[in-house]
Amino acid sequence: MNTLEEITSFTSRYRDDLMRSRLETVSCEDRNFDIQLLELKPHGRPQKNRFTLLLVAGVHGLETIGVTVLLHYLSHLIENARWNDALKRSLASARIVAIPALNPTGIFQGRRATAEGIDLMRNAPVAAEKPVPLLGGHQFSPMLPYYSGTGDLALESRALIRAVKNLLDTSSGMIALDLHSGFGARDRVWTPWSMSSALPPHWNHYLAIEKALNESFPDHVYKFERQSDSYQTNGDLWDYLLLENQNLGGPLFLPLALEMGSWNWLKKAPWRAFTKLGWFHPVAPHRVSRACRRHTTLLDFLVSVCANSEKFFGQEVS
Ligand SMILES: [Zn+2]
Repeated sequence: MNTLEEITSFTSRYRDDLMRSRLETVSCEDRNFDIQLLELKPHGRPQKNRFTLLLVAGVHGLETIGVTVLLHYLSHLIENARWNDALKRSLASARIVAIPALNPTGIFQGRRATAEGIDLMRNAPVAAEKPVPLLGGHQFSPMLPYYSGTGDLALESRALIRAVKNLLDTSSGMIALDLHSGFGARDRVWTPWSMSSALPPHWNHYLAIEKALNESFPDHVYKFERQSDSYQTNGDLWDYLLLENQNLGGPLFLPLALEMGSWNWLKKAPWRAFTKLGWFHPVAPHRVSRACRRHTTLLDFLVSVCANSEKFFGQEVS
């Protein structure tokens, strides 16, 4: 089953547990692909304006392990909530929303960018202080990787921007986790502001998340760091959304990225470096399962933070 079929199979299996909406339809090679927003149906009577956890995957079409981890986690929540009253109570306080594939044409074509050649994480109208040449985004040609695009924002970017604005309008706050793969040997949790070496807004809240993660799960596998410590990029959609939300005086919004380190998968099977997905996706089924299991702790932790947001973030959460 390919990644897009995995999503279809998931949504039909759990159709009674999900609310589905179509954010946009994109096309390539005479085919249409819906960008979907999934929301877990709450159990019982949910609180109004719940704190939201938004999971996003498939922004880069090659990084399909993120889609698999996301779907695996949603099914874990749905199945557990059938009998676990403590989890049901959590889901009455926290809203769980997911965009399993923001870039379905890239997934279909097996490429990082969209079918138009646009790298969505270089597409937003924000410029970095010191972008890394090429990797940091450029407007030379869609034939080269990390192309920012020229002119209007990509449909996929606009779909994400609309979805995030709608969710923030109806939430007391939101954590977003964008799942990627392919950078480094370690799994990293990145705070945003890839456009600047300055601290991102709400830095105290990011520190609180890091501290609680370290103290609750001292054996966790993540390196928690600022993205700009690795490299600066133009056009990061999360930087743009964070800035927009600040300008509009919106509720607390904390985007994070999970960057799954793929170099370990390559160490075990170095010949895979020469295959298309090699740098981004573990192929052996046991490695895919391991990636899914590995991140359940972090995702459970983020659900708990959202479900207990008032206590966790204190007075600043409205
Ligand atoms: Zn990526």
